Formats: sequence, structure tokens, C-alpha cells
Amino acid sequence: KERNPHEVEFIQAVKEIFDSLVPVLAKHPKYIEHNILERIVDPERFISFRVSWVDDQGKVQVNRGYRVQFNSAIGPYKGGLRFHPSVTPSIIKFLGFEQIFKNSLTGQSIGGAKGGSDFDPKGKSDGEIMRFSQSFMAELGKYIGPDVDVPAGDIGVGAREIGYMFGQYKKMKGAYEAGVLTGKGVSFGGSLARTEATGYGLVYFVDEMLKHKGLSFKDQTVVVSGSGNVSIYAIEKAHELGATVVACSDSNGYIYDKEGIDLDTVKRLKEENSLRISEYVEEHPHAEYKEGCSEIWSIPCDIALPCATQNEIGEPSAKLLVANGVKAVGEGANMPSTLEAIDTFLENDVLFGPAKAANAGGVAVSSFEMAQNSSRVSWTFEEVDAKLKETMASIFTNSIKEAEEHGVPGNLVIGANIAGFKKVADAMIDQGVI
Ligand code: NDP
Repeated sequence: KERNPHEVEFIQAVKEIFDSLVPVLAKHPKYIEHNILERIVDPERFISFRVSWVDDQGKVQVNRGYRVQFNSAIGPYKGGLRFHPSVTPSIIKFLGFEQIFKNSLTGQSIGGAKGGSDFDPKGKSDGEIMRFSQSFMAELGKYIGPDVDVPAGDIGVGAREIGYMFGQYKKMKGAYEAGVLTGKGVSFGGSLARTEATGYGLVYFVDEMLKHKGLSFKDQTVVVSGSGNVSIYAIEKAHELGATVVACSDSNGYIYDKEGIDLDTVKRLKEENSLRISEYVEEHPHAEYKEGCSEIWSIPCDIALPCATQNEIGEPSAKLLVANGVKAVGEGANMPSTLEAIDTFLENDVLFGPAKAANAGGVAVSSFEMAQNSSRVSWTFEEVDAKLKETMASIFTNSIKEAEEHGVPGNLVIGANIAGFKKVADAMIDQGVI
């Protein structure tokens, strides 16, 4: 706190992880002896740079770009890029810090990183998006590479932006290094099922949580926040498993459709970029639209899947969900629940799947994309999906095992943090003080 007084989100993420490491530090004093906590909390490198670009009126615009290369103990840096006006060094550092443990949990050899810009893609033309993405990569490209640091998408960065950045990187390097970015178009090295991976993986993970308690998605009422990449595929898979998703949102408001959200409409609204979720009710007049996205948590549901952004569930929303009988919460977004909200869920025996375990499917498939790029092969959708399912099940099993071994059975927050931490901390010790 003293070293990073203004970095509220970063401090929140560190507190959540450090609090849950108490049992593992008590059991293994080597982590204290090697001063792992003080080392792991400082990024190996934090890069901040200017991004100048020309808008459609010919005016020069300036944004800030960032990349935090947090920890490379178990592999090359890996983590997404976020383009959103709320991006600050604190946001990038919280995301990068979480990414270390998430990547470790996947069982793949990838270190932790994150990056992005305070650029706002909303209302920008395709040409503006392209010029911004190129300018961003003109600087970032100096610090990344298939064996160094492999960025991917996040909020505001999808296949289109990755494509423009890949084109720019290729031009800079004069070489076709397919493995430098993941989330690419399938025609130039992208993996099938990467688009679906985070949302599908979230539902696979929550399904494991439910099965462990003799429950399932079948006939359950589900609320999913957001209507972006993660939300869309979480809704799709939840419907496939027999649940009814009755609500989703964007940053302006939410829709409530008791008959079940019509995903084709949501997908189309997302594709047509400028349209808002409020327009859903024009095609489905029986549904309701309400302004204010946090009110979505007042809708009674069995399963809540926050998939929009950080701190979208505060203590009051968590209490409402509990009062309405929620059985399980799975975090699709990064850090969507505040520390107080998490306590509320755990104190009330709600099954709780923390982000770094529950949303690790995206980065797991990104790592499969790297593997396909290095070996110059493409796996089928079914192969990738099966590996994703296996990965989510193994993250669940490892997390539940660590929770049990450390005296907090069923606590996936502590279990996942310990499982992710041990592998990275052991690698740091083995590699000496560097
Ligand atoms: P998208 O940009 O595709 O969608 C984001 C959605 O969340 C949109 O509906 C957006 O609404 C809404 N949203 C964004 N900011 C806010 C806000 N401040 N308040 C309310 N709603 C908001 O992003 P993704 O689906 O890719 O990412 C969503 C979350 O999942 C993020 O936390 C991300 O870090 C996390 N995540 C994503 C992964 C991936 O593979 N994409 C992997 C792991 C985690 P609007 O359109 O109005 O802005």
C-alpha cells in the first residue's frame, strides 16, 4: 500500500491473494525464507508508452499504452490487451498479477502479463481502429515475441484488433512469427474454439462445482452480466446444458427475458457494434429493458455468472443474490466481485468459483494456439473443446484438493490461489535470486 498508494484495484487483487496464502506459508516456511511475497508482487517490467494516431478528421490523437510483464518463472509472459477508457496502471497491474496465478493453474508453461490502453473503441470507425492498433503495436512490438511475451485480446480487443496488430508486427519484423499473438483469425494461425473458450470454460468449471454437490445446470435459472465475448459463449453453453439464461447487460443497462435470452439477437447486436442491448426489446417486446447495469443482480436466479468487468458485484448485490436463493456464482470477468461480496457468498455457503480458476479457459486455449503455431498444425474444434473441458475439470480438482489439504474444504478462492502460487513460487526458488 505504501509503495503503490493510488493503485486501488491492484491492492485489492494482492490482498485477496495474500490473505488466502496464509495456510500455505504456515506449512512451507521456504516461501518466507526466499522472500517470495515481496518478489512476486513487483512486476519484472512495466512498460508505458505514447500512442499517437490520426482520426478520420485528420486530427492527431494521443493515448497511453501499457504492458506489464509480471512474472516469467514458468514460461514466456502471456496475457490479454484491454482497450477501454478506464485503463490505468492499477488496472493493468491487477490484471497482470491475477494472470500469474491463472496461467499457472491451467497447467501450461506460461508466465503472467497484461496490457492495454485508455483508448475508447466505442464510436470509432474501422479505419480509426486500424490506425490506433498499428500505432500501439509499433511500440509494443519492440518488447514481445513468441518466446518472450504473447499478448491476446480482452475488453475492446477482439479478432479484428488482433488482426491489425498482427499485420503491423509482421511488417516490423519482416518475418511470419505466428505465435506472437493469440486470438488470431483462423485463416492465419488462430485456434478453433478460442472465441468460445472463456465462456464455455466458465460453464464447464461451474458444472464441476455443481456436480461436486450433486447438482447440475439442468432447469436452473441463470443471470449473466455483460453481452460481450465471454457472456455470449457462457449463455450458449448454459443453454446447451439445459439452463435458462434470463438476463444479460451492457454498460448502460440490462434485459430481462423470462422465456430465455434469444442468443442470435444478442450476437447480432454485438456484431453490429454500435447497437446497444436495449434494442433487444424491439424484437422481443415481452422482454424488459432497465437502465443501470448493477440492478441485474436483483433478478432471482440459481446461478449468477458475472462476465462484464471488475467490481460489478458489491456487497449489496451479493446480499440480494443470497436473499433470492442463489446457489452458485462463477466469475467470468476478472475480479467482478469485491472482497466484501466474496465474503458474503462464502459465509452463506454459496458455491463460489473465483475468476482465476473459472475464467482460465481463454488463456488455456491461447496456449493451445501457441502449441499449434509452433508445430504448424491445426486441431479440430472438437479436439480443442475436449482439451478445454479436461483443463477446467483439472483446475477444479487441483483447487478443491489444495483447499482440503489446507484445512478449508470447499473454499475454491483459497484452493485456487494456493494451487497457482505453489508452482510459480517453487520455480522462482529453483531459478535463484534474479
Ligand atoms: P467484451 O469487450 O467482449 O465485452 C465486455 C462486456 O462487458 C460488454 O457487454 C460491455 O458493455 C460490458 N462492460 C464493459 N465495461 C463495463 C463497465 N464498466 N460496466 C458495465 N459493463 C461493462 O469483453 P470480454 O467479454 O472479452 O471480457 C469481459 C470480462 O472477461 C473482462 O473482465 C475480461 O478481463 C474477462 N476475461 C476475458 C477473457 C477473454 O477471453 N475475452 C479471458 C478471461 C477473462 P459495453 O459494450 O456497453 O461496453
